[in-house]
Amino acid sequence: MSGTSEQDVIVVGGGLIGIASALGLRQLGLSVLLLDEGDVAHRAARGNFGLVWLQSKGGGSGDYVRWTRRSIDHWPDFSRELTELTGIDLGYRRPGGYHLCLSDTEFASRSALVDRIAPNQPDDAKTVMLDAAEVRRRIDGVGEGVVGASYNELDGDCNSLALFRALHEGFNRLGGRYKPSVRVDAVERDGGAYRVRTGEDSFGASKVVFAAGLGLNRFAGQVGMPEIVRPQRGQIIVTERLRPFLSMVFSQIRQLPNGTVLIGDTKEDAGFDNGTTSIIMRELAERAVKTLPHLANVNIVRAWGALRVLTHDGLPCYEEAPDWPGVFFATSHSAVTLAPGHAREFARWVAFGEAPPDLLGFSSARFRAAA
Ligand SMILES: Cc1cc2nc3c(=O)[nH]c(=O)nc-3n(C[C@H](O)[C@H](O)[C@H](O)COP(=O)(O)OP(=O)(O)OC[C@H]3O[C@@H](n4cnc5c(N)ncnc54)[C@H](O)[C@@H]3O)c2cc1C
Repeated sequence: MSGTSEQDVIVVGGGLIGIASALGLRQLGLSVLLLDEGDVAHRAARGNFGLVWLQSKGGGSGDYVRWTRRSIDHWPDFSRELTELTGIDLGYRRPGGYHLCLSDTEFASRSALVDRIAPNQPDDAKTVMLDAAEVRRRIDGVGEGVVGASYNELDGDCNSLALFRALHEGFNRLGGRYKPSVRVDAVERDGGAYRVRTGEDSFGASKVVFAAGLGLNRFAGQVGMPEIVRPQRGQIIVTERLRPFLSMVFSQIRQLPNGTVLIGDTKEDAGFDNGTTSIIMRELAERAVKTLPHLANVNIVRAWGALRVLTHDGLPCYEEAPDWPGVFFATSHSAVTLAPGHAREFARWVAFGEAPPDLLGFSSARFRAAA
């Protein structure tokens, strides 16, 4: 191959997808340079809720359910191997997950969702609806306002900041090169290889993976692909440390090993504003108290807003750019859940061209058709 390839692969974006892919590529023996813009960028990797979650996935896409399920199946091994490599405990657990409904309307709408996704869900891990009596039988201390729940036994959570740290540490230990505070501006052809340009520098590689989260659209435009991503804000509030009381995981409430309780997370169209608002924080707190009344006298110690990286239809987008062989794009919501999939299966696609068949339908062509 002509052109100047200083490494096999450059990964642009050191968020959850970029670093999981970079680690996977290193594990496959490729030389990898990871470039990340740093704290000025919007980084969903640092603001998420930490769920490893299947139950509500895949309204219109069996492929997405299968992809999520495979990732969840990889989680126990993946977590153990990453801990062996780095010494960092990811706090992964799979106690089963509940989405609690606080009105008959919510219960009906959740039941309709569960019915809709049932045909795409694996037979051995269907999401089920539980009535109020069953919820009370399983969970101590739920409020009178809880009218039922959906439940999936494969659902769980992890310490997502530990996951993020371990992915970076593992990449570093395996000899990956990481350059923080480097904003990539452009990708160009360089003979049969590629160069990515920053303000002052340029770096060459045979392949480039764009995993730049909300920064993806600019690169998609450069290689003739349509816009892929848009932001969606989520706000999360955090309580003071409490004695352990919640061993299962709720979609909107989870207790961390240090005793704090995370309460979240909203879905708001707020453009690129990742701030917090007192109205939303009050709504989150009220909902939490309705769910678990003993949270009423607990202090909230901090809150944050973060921007989800969503495609226009909420499904992932994975693609080798049509006229730029070796230039890959990857974006998905739920990249905590999908971290093993990115490190193992997506990395193999980039390294060896072995695309998992169920990812091929997630190209950006679907957005071109919609435009
Ligand atoms: C409120 C909230 C709750 C969530 N809860 C969950 C959950 O419970 N479970 C779950 O699985 N997922 C959850 N997520 C989603 C998860 O955090 C995202 O799917 C994931 O962070 C996306 O990873 P990413 O690498 O695509 O983007 P990011 O993590 O945002 O990383 C993108 C990176 O690209 C870099 N970058 C951007 N532009 C450039 C450029 N030009 N040059 C160099 N670098 C660049 C940025 O610096 C950034 O580090 C949640 C997200 C939010 C916001």
